[in-house]
Formats: sequence, structure tokens, C-alpha cells
Amino acid sequence: MELSKSRREFKRAKRLIPGGVNSPVRAFGSVGGIPRFIDSAKGARIRDVDGNEYIDYVGSWGPMILGHSHPKVLKAVRKAMASGTSFGAPTARESDLAETIRRALPSIQKVRMVSSGTEATMSALRLARGVTGRPRILKFDGCYHGHSDGLLVGAGSGVATLGIPGSPGVPKAMTDQTIIAPFNDLVATRRAFGRWGKQIAAIIVEPIAGNMGCIPPTPGFLEGLRAICDEFGALLIFDEVMTGFRVAKGGAQRLYKVKPDLTTLGKIVGGGLPAAAYGGRRDFMARVAPEGDIYQAGTLSGNPLAVAAGITTLELLEAPGVYETLAERSSTLMSGLAERAEARGIPLTTRSVGGMFGFFFNRGPVDSFAEAQQSDAAAFRRFFASMLEDGVYLAPSPYEAGFVSLAHKKRDIDLTLDAAERALARVARAR
Ligand SMILES: *Cc1c(COP(=O)(O)O)cnc(C)c1O
Repeated sequence: MELSKSRREFKRAKRLIPGGVNSPVRAFGSVGGIPRFIDSAKGARIRDVDGNEYIDYVGSWGPMILGHSHPKVLKAVRKAMASGTSFGAPTARESDLAETIRRALPSIQKVRMVSSGTEATMSALRLARGVTGRPRILKFDGCYHGHSDGLLVGAGSGVATLGIPGSPGVPKAMTDQTIIAPFNDLVATRRAFGRWGKQIAAIIVEPIAGNMGCIPPTPGFLEGLRAICDEFGALLIFDEVMTGFRVAKGGAQRLYKVKPDLTTLGKIVGGGLPAAAYGGRRDFMARVAPEGDIYQAGTLSGNPLAVAAGITTLELLEAPGVYETLAERSSTLMSGLAERAEARGIPLTTRSVGGMFGFFFNRGPVDSFAEAQQSDAAAFRRFFASMLEDGVYLAPSPYEAGFVSLAHKKRDIDLTLDAAERALARVARAR
């Protein structure tokens, strides 16, 4: 595979940009090799600067649920652009987007637009702390909620602990307020509330974890979190930056029938442009400035191009059968992969919900970050490298979910499974 241009660009980028990338995982650190510099993308395919084409299961890490360069999205953005790119003043289209979001997610009565998922989660937490007057938050090991200080915490071993900073530059004082519990562990969560309950403003959770592979909630987990929050007067925040508009009409909260107090959205909500949002109960959202006293602002919030892309994407997702199609594609992909691994005696656990999927090179079950970490990293690296070489672009990390789009047709899935057959053969040979 010709890679000279990507190689040259990577070298140049590394002189100019930390690690040569503007977001760490793009650098292929955990898989090795040359990150592909992308030239263009259409439908289910991306093309790199050397002219290699790949079936893309990253989809810009989630937003491209319609496929790349969808003609209707491009048209809407072009039309918005012709009227100006940013005003820093309200537009009617922002209310259109708010209505579209509300239609999909009834737990959201009012919504505020921001520019990234990180901003959405940090703003939702500020609101939760402002509303409850409490300092602490509880998050789950392996869930990612953006890179803001208090959320960037790793955790210990299977028991609820206070967070330790996940990065230099994050003062301990910031993460002292963050309690960590294992995902899918109600006993540990309850224990944490037993100790700090009256100080906890909110639980924040990815209702389907997508930043440690794809790990759905075990039955009763989300319901249990709802009950604990109600008992202790804490807010329940569903971080649906990934899952909202990805797994079902109405997100994970509709799928599992659990109603959060606040929801954060991102990725798909911007249709491939920078937009995100947080919203929820009317009385809570009324505390956000200028209606209320809790400050939050943004120069490019509700940007007209992002709003146009977002509305168009969400409207197209309202068509009947969309999520059934996505679910069918990702489950065909995962069951095909599981069968082929089993035929070769390679331990593999696969998961899919709606348009997201994940696989772990271990026997499973995989219900927590600790269990996800039991997977065979070398097997993943081999599998990833072979797939890429064969024209299938998977997330370059064993701890990321994969995404199908509506542009992934049966033939793309078949081609992917053919490539998987060859990749698994390589994995088997190396064992
Ligand atoms: C991607 C993601 C974020 C962060 O969003 P950015 O737009 O990258 O800041 C937050 N939460 C979840 C669940 C995500 O998947």
C-alpha cells in the first residue's frame, strides 16, 4: 500500500503540531504505523492523500451517521454559508434545532447549544452543582466525558475511590471532587453514596459506554442509578454525546426507558460540524444565564453552519426504519466477526447497539473497564493492521466503539467480513 504522502505529511505535522495531530488517538499511538492523512470522504468511504480508499467505521468518531458528504447536508451548509458564517446573535434556525432535539428526547424541555461535547459535559456539571449546591460528582471508570479537569480522572481497582488526576496539569483539588465507581456496579455506587451522598451533585454516565469499546448497561443498572439519585437528591446526567441519535430514536434513554435530569449531546447533533448541547428539565435549565444565575457562554455557540448541518442530519434520521437498518448492519458485522473468530478458536466478545459496535479479544463477559482491559492488545494490533492494509478503517485503539452509517450497504459489510477472515487468520498464526 502506497503511503509516501501520508508518511511525509505526518513528518511535517509532527514538527508543527504536538504528535502531529489535533486529538491524540489520531496519531495511531496504540496500534503503530502511519496515520492516514485524509483527502476526502464520500458515503461509507474515506480516501487518503496517497489515493488509498477505505471502508470507514470511525465516521469522524460518530457524527457521520448519514455517511460522508451527504448531498442534503452539504446543500444545507452551502445555503447557510451564503447568508454569512457567524453573527454572534440569535437566529431562528437555533430554535428549529432545539425543537428537533426536543422532539427526539422528551426529557429535554430546554436546551443550550455549545461547540463541543467537552463543553456540554462541563456545563451540565456546573449546572448540577449550582442547582444542588453540592460539590462532588460521581463518574464511572472507563467512561469518557471530554477532557475538562474534573472529568479527566483514572481510577483504581474495582472499588469506589476518589479520583486521581489523569494528566499532569490537573490539580488534585479538581479531581478530589470526583468519585469513581466501576461501570455496571450498583453496589459500589451505593456504597459511595453511603459515604458522600449528601455532597454529591450528580451522577454522570455514558448510558452505553462507548469509550472503552462498546459496553451496554447490564439490566437494572441505569434504573438503579435513577433510584439512587432520587433517594439522595442528586441529578442524573446521561452523557449521550455518542449515543444520542446513534442507538435509537431518542437515544439510550428511550431504549432503556430511564429518564435523566440532564442530557449532553454532541457528535451527530452537529452533523459533522462543531456543535453540541446540554438540556433537560425546564426548572433546572432556567438556572442557566441569562434566564438564571449560572454562567455559561460561547462565541460560536449555535453557529449557523453547524446548526444547518445538525438540523438536516436529525431530520433525515426521523425517517422510519433508520435505526433498524443501522442495528441490522452492525449486528451482521459483529455476528459475522464472532463466527469467524470462533471457527479459528480466537476468543472474541462482540457487542452492538443500534449504529455502534465493539469487540474485545477475550472470552468475556465484558461489562466494565477492568474486564475490557483483559483483552489481548497484541491481537488487536495485528487485526487492526491487517484490516487497514485490506482497506478497512477501524478506530486505531482497542478502547473505542465502531460506527456504521446509513451509507454502509450490505456489500460493504460483506467486504469487511472478507477482510476480517484474512485478519483473523493472521491473528491465529501469531498465537
Ligand atoms: C466524544 C465524547 C465527549 C467529548 O466530546 P468532544 O466533542 O470530543 O469534546 C464527551 N462524552 C462522550 C460520551 C463522548 O463520546
